[in-house]
Amino acid sequence: MDYKKLVDVYEALGSTTKRLKKTAIIAELLKQTNADIQKLMLLLQGRVFPTWDQRELGVADRLLIKAIAASSGATSDKVEREFAKTGDLGLAAESLLRNRRQSTLTSRSLTITKVFDNIRKVAEFQGKGTVERKLQLISELLTTATAKEAKYIVRTISGNLRVGIGSGSIRDAIVWAFFGKELELKYDDKDEAIKVRDRADFGKYLDAVQSAYDLTNDFSVVAEAAQTKGLKGLSTISLKVGIPIKVMLAQKAKDVEDGFRQVGKPAAIEYKYDGFRIQLHKSKGTISLFTRRLENVTKQFPDVVKYAKEYIKGNEYILDSEAVGYSPKTRKYLPFQMVSQRIKRKYDISKLEQELPVEVNIFDVIYYEGKNYISTPFRERRKLVEKIVKSVPLKIKPCEHIESSNEEEAKKFLAKALDSGNEGVMLKALDAPYKPGSRVGYMLKLKPSFDTLDLVVIGADWGEGKRAKYLSSFYIACVDEDGNFKEIGKVASGIKELEDSAEGATMQQMTSLLKPLFTSEKGKTITVKPKVVIEVEYGEIQKSPTYSSGYALRFPRIKTVREDRKADDATTLNEIEKLYKEQNK
Ligand code: ATP
Repeated sequence: MDYKKLVDVYEALGSTTKRLKKTAIIAELLKQTNADIQKLMLLLQGRVFPTWDQRELGVADRLLIKAIAASSGATSDKVEREFAKTGDLGLAAESLLRNRRQSTLTSRSLTITKVFDNIRKVAEFQGKGTVERKLQLISELLTTATAKEAKYIVRTISGNLRVGIGSGSIRDAIVWAFFGKELELKYDDKDEAIKVRDRADFGKYLDAVQSAYDLTNDFSVVAEAAQTKGLKGLSTISLKVGIPIKVMLAQKAKDVEDGFRQVGKPAAIEYKYDGFRIQLHKSKGTISLFTRRLENVTKQFPDVVKYAKEYIKGNEYILDSEAVGYSPKTRKYLPFQMVSQRIKRKYDISKLEQELPVEVNIFDVIYYEGKNYISTPFRERRKLVEKIVKSVPLKIKPCEHIESSNEEEAKKFLAKALDSGNEGVMLKALDAPYKPGSRVGYMLKLKPSFDTLDLVVIGADWGEGKRAKYLSSFYIACVDEDGNFKEIGKVASGIKELEDSAEGATMQQMTSLLKPLFTSEKGKTITVKPKVVIEVEYGEIQKSPTYSSGYALRFPRIKTVREDRKADDATTLNEIEKLYKEQNK
């Protein structure tokens, strides 16, 4: 197929925001596609590898600018000026190539295969001395391309297609294109509506495509199966070790009683670790790790790879787990924010591994030694986890788990989970299968609800080590009838180190807000004028003789700085007394 056809589709997609219209456009394209459907599906999404694939093109803007210059005859400076106008190198390429001299235009037309293969080859050249080869491959495409084609080639290489297609539209388009006839599907452009012979049948086909996608995360494989082998082809698509599947998601339980009602008795109850999900794959001695969003993070977690090799029995498996960070000093669990930087970090990996170690808690098995466990009841999957994963606390272990029918026992387990720094518990149905990509209620999350108070900062402690330049924990107070500030504890959770996020408070921000308010300093503790108000989340209010308010907060956590509030607007002692009474009713 000519690349021009795909470019027309990009343009059409970019010019509408209507979802059904987009679906119709993609379906029409798929119907006309033959041999190159896999390549077309990837290019349609602006990529040459499926999302979970670790390979990268490694093309910097600088290189693209050179390629555009070479193929348009403009200087690099000119390309950069054009680029600066819109921030879109694709548009720059389009406008410069449109003005190129006629003699450089060739009569050859670009095919989908040629564009795909050239871009894919770019990824094969990595490291020093490969820039020339890359430049050649890209320039070759741009020289042959029309101005419009060049726009999308450049956008694909720079990783931003800017046409707005969601995976929902692609899934639906596969159904419309390959099963539309038997479904007697008709799309009405005017009313933005579709008609089918039988809604239930339509749902069946949508589910079949979705399930195949949940197992492969690659529409190119799914579309090809649907096109060449129909519904049967979709149902024979299976998971493959090394390719991440969509994880099963949780619904909510209000409390222990509600949890049992939903998943039945007896139920499995497990710690809900405040970490991040890691899917572990092992195949032919190679371990790969994926996040919940299916990013390949194997390189970022050499420690987890090592633990898996040493402490998990088996040659081939897919396991589901939660990796939770802990402080190497106190060996206590840390909230997710503290270790989240490990996921993105590409350098200093071994240093980070020491500073922010994680414990891997394996809670499910999806595939083991040639057998697919998706439809095996959870009870048996858990037994298998216990059999194959050695328990080595602070490294890797089967997650904390009990099986119970007893509310009291479950509540005790929940309290224990919270006490050891977890978010709550998960309740799981023992006879349920594993449902990739679904939130069907086979597992429930139970987190105590957190209310918030607006409290005044009356003091703070300097951090330690790397954080010595920041204030890292804060003494907080409410205000009594007479306007006096009464301490209610200390909070250090929930705060991020630097200004790396639009949400929440950061140590840098708190330090600069409090510095002008210092009144005295003793050791690493300072006192400040009570002016800064922060919003603090907590699990429970308790009586406490330690603090002047007579109360303390369980699981306090900083949510944000309330720059809009004055100290007098803080939560009053009366309000706290009232909340305490209500909570204990
Ligand atoms: P959601 O996953 O429901 O979209 P979310 O990202 O806020 O929302 P959570 O509320 O944290 O997720 O709840 C589900 C997550 O809890 C799981 O995706 C998993 O990462 C984590 N988790 C921690 N411990 C366990 C466990 N024992 N079993 C299953 N999941 C667990």
